[in-house]
Amino acid sequence: MANGGPVQHGFPHLETVRASITALYKRLSYDTVQTFATSVVPADVAFCDTDDLYLGAQRVARELVRHYRLPDARLIVSFREMTHAANVELAAGPEYFVELNDRFRTHRRDIGAALAHEVMHVYLHRLGLSFPGTRDNEILTDTATTYLGAGWLLLDAYREDSASSQKLGYLTPEEFGYVLAKRALVFAEDPSVWFTSPQAYTAYVKGLAEARRDEQQPPLTAAGWAGRRRYAHDRRHAQGDRGAGVRPGVPYSFTPDGRGPLRVSFPCPTCQQRIRVPVRGRVRARCGLCRTVLECDT
Ligand SMILES: [Zn+2]
Ligand SMILES: [Zn+2]
Repeated sequence: MANGGPVQHGFPHLETVRASITALYKRLSYDTVQTFATSVVPADVAFCDTDDLYLGAQRVARELVRHYRLPDARLIVSFREMTHAANVELAAGPEYFVELNDRFRTHRRDIGAALAHEVMHVYLHRLGLSFPGTRDNEILTDTATTYLGAGWLLLDAYREDSASSQKLGYLTPEEFGYVLAKRALVFAEDPSVWFTSPQAYTAYVKGLAEARRDEQQPPLTAAGWAGRRRYAHDRRHAQGDRGAGVRPGVPYSFTPDGRGPLRVSFPCPTCQQRIRVPVRGRVRARCGLCRTVLECDT
């Protein structure tokens, strides 16, 4: 897990974040994702400065192991001077060694956030789910941590004032907010009540707006006027020359599959898996991966 440096903002990793959500649904299935309907609650990972450092860290690690349902995994937490915030050794198990940066000795309230990410590494390792390259794999880890109910801790560890800033993980605060909002929309959860950091709350609001935009893209009926107008124009174009294909910046694409009727494909707003439906006015589709029912006006 990375540490320090200036805090990056916005949505620079959105494509990989979305691919991570799709990969999670594919690997875990809808039913397993549904078992994570409840997030880690603040009381379970609370850590105050009067708690014993090692016993407290072990207790929080056990709580996260329980949350991710890794029954026989045992985490051994230690502290040392290092450049990274934290690190986990991904061996065969059932014992896994996690090292936390020495600074957590005096920043105990963020130990839960660091462990949420490191224990997710163990979870994904056991699932055999990974992305090639460190950057993408870390984005997958942050996204999975957040989508499965422990990532609000990482966003809440983001704090900024005139003198200093702190952020954990590879996603920007807004991207953590986005994944948290995607999860909140699926499970009808309101994570904003858990934030102790005002900056985390602001980032969540921005992420939520981005997540809502996913649900307002044509051909979904919730699309706004401008989107619908552009869609109608693109559809006319596709019907005219039968050579539509993908247009940059537009999430949908038309496929004139030979002599067959025109079809439109677009990402599912929940899991980002591409859905394909015929172009014939109002269509109700159901995503095969996450089971979201989609009202479309094609
Ligand atoms: Zn990591
Ligand atoms: Zn879906």
